[in-house]
Amino acid sequence: MDRFWLNTDLDTEARVNLLLNVMTLEECVRQLDQICLDEVENEDLKAGQGSIILASSATAGNDAQEATFAEKYDALQKVAVEQSRLGIPIIYGRDVIHGHHTVYPIPLGQGASWDEGLVERGCRAAAVESSAEGVHWTFSPMLDIARDPRWGRIAEGYGESPLLTGQLGTAAVRGYQGDDLTTPDAIGAGAKHFVGYGAAEGGRDYNSTEITDATLNDVYLPPFEAAVKAGYQTFMSAFNEIGGISAAANKELLTNILRERWGFDGFVVTDWNAIAEIISHGIAEDGADATRQGVEAKADMDMVDRLYVRHLEELVQQGLVEEASVRRCVANILRVKFRLGLFENPYTGQREVATQPHLDDARQAVARCATLLENDGTLPIREAKSIAVVGPLAGATRELFGTWTLDGKSEWVTSPLDAIGQLAPEGSTVTPVDWDNTSLTQHMTHQRDLTIAVFGESSNRSGEANSVVAPGLPPGQTEMLEKLLDLGKPVVLVLIAGRPLILPSCAKRCAAILYSFHPGTAGGLGLADVIFGHAEPGGRLPVTLPRHAGQIPLYHDHKPTGRPLDEYHRRGPGHYRYLDCPGSPLYPFGYGLTYTEFELKHAKITSANTEGISLSAQLANIGEAEGSTVVQVYLNDPVAELSQPVRRLVEHRRVQLGPGSTTEIAFHIPPERYACHHRDGSIRSDSGRYRLWIGQHSSDGEMLEVNIED
Ligand code: BGC
Repeated sequence: MDRFWLNTDLDTEARVNLLLNVMTLEECVRQLDQICLDEVENEDLKAGQGSIILASSATAGNDAQEATFAEKYDALQKVAVEQSRLGIPIIYGRDVIHGHHTVYPIPLGQGASWDEGLVERGCRAAAVESSAEGVHWTFSPMLDIARDPRWGRIAEGYGESPLLTGQLGTAAVRGYQGDDLTTPDAIGAGAKHFVGYGAAEGGRDYNSTEITDATLNDVYLPPFEAAVKAGYQTFMSAFNEIGGISAAANKELLTNILRERWGFDGFVVTDWNAIAEIISHGIAEDGADATRQGVEAKADMDMVDRLYVRHLEELVQQGLVEEASVRRCVANILRVKFRLGLFENPYTGQREVATQPHLDDARQAVARCATLLENDGTLPIREAKSIAVVGPLAGATRELFGTWTLDGKSEWVTSPLDAIGQLAPEGSTVTPVDWDNTSLTQHMTHQRDLTIAVFGESSNRSGEANSVVAPGLPPGQTEMLEKLLDLGKPVVLVLIAGRPLILPSCAKRCAAILYSFHPGTAGGLGLADVIFGHAEPGGRLPVTLPRHAGQIPLYHDHKPTGRPLDEYHRRGPGHYRYLDCPGSPLYPFGYGLTYTEFELKHAKITSANTEGISLSAQLANIGEAEGSTVVQVYLNDPVAELSQPVRRLVEHRRVQLGPGSTTEIAFHIPPERYACHHRDGSIRSDSGRYRLWIGQHSSDGEMLEVNIED
């Protein structure tokens, strides 16, 4: 048979059709199947297997996985290409979530950088390293908005802002897919989990969600719409049911919104076993019924439960599923395979990768993501001191990686303790104290000028299926911190975690608090860079940090009420509050200190019309060191058809200034940034009154008001 579809002079759509036209129904069904690597047989490959997932357990992010080997995948590919009737190459997918051998900070940490360049470079490094080992496609990034620190997977997203998540998601695809998808070091990116997974009730993983149309359109969908615009080749449907329908069987989401409204033309893979879980949700009778619903909704590829392979042919023969629906799914998958150049280059072969530049960049990323929450001037430490280093994560190596790091090299990690030893100013003494609260360890610690306490969560306390009811410090650490503080010497608390942890009240007594979401391979050195002033702490909280778990959910873009609960942005008396806790967060979204001080003055609106709102302010570095701050613009629509958030992030920019310098900063907010869902289902911006704030976090800034005339 002539393989006309191999002609690269033809356009992709023509190639897809030429191939599709000669495929049997059985071959079509095989393309829709994704099988686990350790289950694949030669028979599958010869029958035209569509995809192989390089993971061997349902929650691969928590378990040790087999390493990646291009040679092994090439051997399987050879069978698929040479021994199947049509020679369609397999697409290999793996969870390369925040790095491959070089691990960058977890996505939530990258969210704290507010830095698109950093995210793009991290994803580029991951693509270069993983593609060299045979990975064609990653199930990353997670674009779920998360407002609940109990949910372990809050670690995997970029935080609570739809705008920031969409921007960083756009940067991620640039990194993974590059400018040309056919280059050997580009990999397909996968936006997940479509949609609403982050709204799992009670923070219980996989739980149901209750999301109104307005919240779906204004909060959960925008990052995914940005992903389609940015050119993502794949989407992953979520596990959860939404509005009573499993995301994997949800025609409204997968067909009407994703394909018809947004024009997505890549393919959708379901999450692990999610077609089978349509039955668990109680809306399918059996595997055949679940398969029918998945295909009809346009969930193109079935991850690991193999129900499509088992039932689809028969469903078509019985007239219960139209063959055209199956072929549409196949076309979506083939289109991506052609775009990735898999037909021309199915094999990886041997490729050397220079990882040192990635490690250097990852180290800078750690500082950019590290968020300084408190500092009485103790940091940075620039003079020789005697330092005690204490805490369960002081000697951490692999524990710095955080969740979902299947391929990170722990031998490349310098622990925080060793990094502090290496970077402390000359003449310092650094003493590790294996704290057991005996008088000896108390004495040893007390003898030093200060203590650096490295506390927080191990990797497996966040991530998939790792939710907690008490998202504070793990047991024992609060007591230990109190004891350390009672010794009377300054304590620098370095927190390493997969979520925004509820801090104990004694934390306020620390000389400084440096918060780092799991920082990855360069975590020890990058944090020591900040501690000793070789780098500034660049992070700003991408999520709200509550005072108490009972406040959850607590987020900056909440709706106004008739009787504000001593609310997020307005501290002070006269407002309704909990009997036993203020309503405001401990640290608001967008918060983070620097090693200098910035002041914003003369904020004003410079123009406002149907083209958008322009505003400006003067920013001055009034401290004594050079540094950067992230200037943030928030907006409120006080009178809308549907109630709007009290403030939502609409713009931000990092500005670097020398001490004593002042600069004028100007912003333009296009109308799409304040468009919202209306009662008739349309999404648009309105004329009328708006309020804006320019500040350094979400509770900061003077209110500006403006009226946009029609
Ligand atoms: C997770 C996905 C992941 C997939 C494949 C699932 O359990 O929800 O995020 O990509 O497994 O490993």
